[in-house]
Amino acid sequence: HVNEPDEVQAKQYVNSVFETVQKRNPNEEEFHQAVKEILDSLVPVIAKQPKYMKAGILERLVEPERLIMFRVPWVDDQGQVRVNRGYRVQFNSAIGPYKGGLRFHPSVNASIIKFLGFEQILKNSLTGLPIGGGKGGSDFDPKEKSDDEVMRFTQSFMTELCKYIGPDADVPAGDIGVGAREIGFLFGQYKRIQGGNQAGVLTGKGIAYGGSLARPEATGYGTVYFVNEMLQAQNLTLNGSTVVVSGSGNVAIYAIQKAAQLGATVVACSDSNGYVYDPTGINYETVQRLKEVERKRISEYVNEHPNATYHEGCQNIWSIPCDIALPCATQNEIDEDAAKLLVKNGVKAVAEGANMPSTLAAIDVFLENGILFGPAKAANAGGVAVSALEMSQNSMRLAWTFEEVDEKLHQIMINIYKSSAEAAETYGYPGNLVVGANIAGFIKVADAMLAHGVI
Ligand code: GLU
Repeated sequence: HVNEPDEVQAKQYVNSVFETVQKRNPNEEEFHQAVKEILDSLVPVIAKQPKYMKAGILERLVEPERLIMFRVPWVDDQGQVRVNRGYRVQFNSAIGPYKGGLRFHPSVNASIIKFLGFEQILKNSLTGLPIGGGKGGSDFDPKEKSDDEVMRFTQSFMTELCKYIGPDADVPAGDIGVGAREIGFLFGQYKRIQGGNQAGVLTGKGIAYGGSLARPEATGYGTVYFVNEMLQAQNLTLNGSTVVVSGSGNVAIYAIQKAAQLGATVVACSDSNGYVYDPTGINYETVQRLKEVERKRISEYVNEHPNATYHEGCQNIWSIPCDIALPCATQNEIDEDAAKLLVKNGVKAVAEGANMPSTLAAIDVFLENGILFGPAKAANAGGVAVSALEMSQNSMRLAWTFEEVDEKLHQIMINIYKSSAEAAETYGYPGNLVVGANIAGFIKVADAMLAHGVI
């Protein structure tokens, strides 16, 4: 790209906004990483549309509307009082109520919550549905905790959080460490405190009390629908391909199921301790029962599947040769070396089921080597998209069939692929879905912010 005068000015503007983010949020590496990736890719938009600069859209976009931080005291099974920290970032409400999951994991801090919330703004915009960006969570570790402890913690968490959320204001859902069990406890406590039955205050609810069919499947299915679009555009197919899926949680489980349905062999999945390799194809039902029902380690998988082998160290999963890699575990799980190894072993496509699983250096490796790359905010948007469909069903007080929801999800993923690919083309980066997804998501939010005046 030639450096036109407008482009030079746009770059200066973007750099100055990034410097402010660094100064204002010291030591928040993950937040800086997410902001840098997005800001850099917006340079061609700013160059073409100076009105965004004049209106300070980027300065406003990177500053959360609100960050709530609170104490979460609870009593463990031994009668000991414990304290965790709770967060909710209400990042941007330009196009709809704040929407985004809650993460319960010991690594959670302000940086993690802000990076997730920031990503969520553009992801939610890409779905085409009216939802703003938010995220929350706690450094509470649900691992090795009893159901009673999880309930007491979760009730305490909601006792504070309920002051800030509502079906038209802010609608949390699950993320790492927050699944059907936690959403049930959260909903019960919200209902008890606020009264009435405001079903739309949370998504990812159980089917018995206002949940949507296909919501559990949505993120994993959506990631596979997205990678399918990426492949088809190059006359490639999932059928007959070898796939590696990292993780073994909600996203991974249904990515494995859908990839297998479309004819791929998923040869590996992992948890934070290690990975299993099963050349005959991972059985997603075993993974689901082990992880979601029995809450065991993935190493147990080999006891039931004699063809499979278990290997310590989850990072080494990227040394398995594959056609398609679907990182569905957590942030920064693919670093530069892992990316180089995948490329060396012949990977053709990578689509991110987790949030920000590739480092900036890893993304560069994929793009420089012409690997098809589906960034998280596009490839994993299926989860929040079906959350928005759950909100719609709650408002209408009806429930769609599995097929209806799945069909809508499929169409949304096709649309996200198309709008990202088109934006990349229009702004001079054909084939670059990182730039395309960021631009396509940004324009709608930026135009809404412009329309609302300086707020
Ligand atoms: N935690 C999911 C995400 O990262 C889903 C959020 C939601 O359904 O609100 O997008």
